[in-house]
Amino acid sequence: MYCPSCKAEYKSGIADCPDCGVPLVKELPPESPLTPEEEEAASLVNVFSTYNQGDLLLIKAFLDAEGIPYHLQGELYSGSGVFITPVVLYVPRGEAGKVREMLVDHGIE
Ligand SMILES: [Zn+2]
Repeated sequence: MYCPSCKAEYKSGIADCPDCGVPLVKELPPESPLTPEEEEAASLVNVFSTYNQGDLLLIKAFLDAEGIPYHLQGELYSGSGVFITPVVLYVPRGEAGKVREMLVDHGIE
C-alpha cells in the first residue's frame, strides 16, 4: 500500500498514512504520462557552444524553421558580434543528431 501524498510504502494492515492522514492506495498513479523512451528523447542535451553571434543566429533560424525546441544558456552579449561567455545550446536528445548534422553541414562545427 502506498500513500498518494508522500509516496511512502506501507505494509498491508494500515489504512491511512500515519504522517499525512490520507487513505492509502494499492498503487501510485504514474508520475509522468511519458514512456521512459519519450522522457529520454525529451531530455535536453548540450550539443554546441559558441562565442560567435553569427553562428548563433544561423542556428536559431535553423531550429525555428525545423520547429525544434531549444534552450540557450549564457547569452551575455558584448555588443561587438561576440559573446562575453560561450553560449551553450541545449536541444532534446531525440533532435541532437539532426542538429549536429546541421552544424557540420554549415561548417560551424
Ligand atoms: Zn503520507
